Amino acid sequence: MLKENIFYVDDTILKRIDSDFELIEKKDWYKLYQNKADKSFWRLDEWDKLQVQMFVKLVTIENWTEFDDKDLRIELLKKSRGLSIEKCNWKDCNKKALNNFVFCELHAYKEMGIRK
Ligand SMILES: [Zn+2]
Repeated sequence: MLKENIFYVDDTILKRIDSDFELIEKKDWYKLYQNKADKSFWRLDEWDKLQVQMFVKLVTIENWTEFDDKDLRIELLKKSRGLSIEKCNWKDCNKKALNNFVFCELHAYKEMGIRK
């Protein structure tokens, strides 16, 4: 069972998808999967060399291609990079900067386009 709600897609995740999930639908730039065990729905980004590919758990399958996973992506960015003890350099931001970076996860994501 996957504990997190969002993953960067790598070979391990692709193997899990292959064995534990069923492909339900393909639409736009996404694939809809259902977990065989707990029946939860997940969305996989189509592979694109310019994008970071994600696998994200859906809250509902209604308008599943529209599901906004931005907050989850920002959380994942923070989790995977970790936080430093420095403050974010963005004006008036009180959050901590990411490890080896000058901005927090929010500004890294929104303003700098950092995805991973
Ligand atoms: Zn910030």
